[in-house]
Amino acid sequence: MKINCNIEVVNRALPAPRKKAQRSCLAIARQSVKNNELHLLLQQTTQNKLGTKYKIDQNIEKVFTKFVNNGKATIRFKEPPHDLNIQCDSILLKSFLRTLELGLCKKLDPSVLGVSNMNPKNIVQAPKTKVTIKTKADYPVLQGFPRTTEELNIVGLERKSFDRQILKLQSLRVLNLSDNKITSLPKELSALPSLTELIVSNNSLGSGGNNKFGWMGEGNLSKTLRLLNLSGNGLTYLPNQIGKLRKLVTLNVSCNALTILPTSIGTLSSLKYLDVSHNSIDSLPGSLMKFRLESLNIAHNPEISQTRLQPFAVNFDVSSLTQLGAQKVLHYRLPYDASTIPFTLVPFLDNAAYCICGKAVVGRYNCLETSRNVSRIAKEVTASADTSVSFRCVVCSHECVKGLLFPR
Ligand SMILES: [Zn+2]
Repeated sequence: MKINCNIEVVNRALPAPRKKAQRSCLAIARQSVKNNELHLLLQQTTQNKLGTKYKIDQNIEKVFTKFVNNGKATIRFKEPPHDLNIQCDSILLKSFLRTLELGLCKKLDPSVLGVSNMNPKNIVQAPKTKVTIKTKADYPVLQGFPRTTEELNIVGLERKSFDRQILKLQSLRVLNLSDNKITSLPKELSALPSLTELIVSNNSLGSGGNNKFGWMGEGNLSKTLRLLNLSGNGLTYLPNQIGKLRKLVTLNVSCNALTILPTSIGTLSSLKYLDVSHNSIDSLPGSLMKFRLESLNIAHNPEISQTRLQPFAVNFDVSSLTQLGAQKVLHYRLPYDASTIPFTLVPFLDNAAYCICGKAVVGRYNCLETSRNVSRIAKEVTASADTSVSFRCVVCSHECVKGLLFPR
């Protein structure tokens, strides 16, 4: 039994756009002369060069026949998770579905059916979703990565540059580039729609200029990225834009050469796991004081527990209109870049500091140092010695100064 029809194959496992319906041929056939197991065969098309073979028995989740009188029906397979949207003459379609039904009820004499002549190698397999490359010889230089890749591990290959092929992987969720020599990540990385974990540990992101963290800016990453590992990169500086990755749960910047953390870390309201160990950080940003982390690692920062004498003068100027406007943009997390606002305002906003109360402060700001026990901000603390740590606190108002000096 065979019909010519227009057919659209929808893979339910992929968020990819639907492919256009194509003219093809659908047949019900048995495996071989000796093996009566039934299959549904989809003839090859230009999109599907090998054709597809679907097992029928126990593999059809549902057949949608509401519009069968209009010549339309959908067969939903369990494995692979495909929906076949069929469109053809309604009488032919009904008789095809009737044959399928008889086949499912084992009421069909298989000997009346043709034998599948498709090479079993052509049977579709679940799409490849995890790719791990450990040697240079395995690198798919010509053929590229499968479009279905969800997890990509390119580890320990001494790669110096980021492979721009990765930017095409619309289903990518986990990207592990650890143990390479990558010096920068492209800005376009922020456009990947599904990336939740980015592991770039033991690379060379710290070499060269500081002006290459555009990928942390506005984009999809700010809505999807939950884990970021930048450990072991020789970073001397962590950009304020880290605050844009507002879904981060885990941030690892250990084993770098950081001396200070940006106050924007205090805006990462989902943050639970923070590792800043093995740096030269001398204080934590005061914006972290209101946090309740699951785990905080501050070990091997020799000066983090030293108390310093602080000048005790704060001076709050009247804010300019630009400052007030900028604070509102940051407060409501409005997206901005040089295409929507004057380009000179972009660094003004990017470099905002964050008060212990969470408010953004732009331009000149007041800063006070205090000492707090970090066991108040994390359930589990790893420290080299004292858990009493210096906090450098930006303060936006006299109320915040009071709250800091006389905590309730
Ligand atoms: Zn404040």
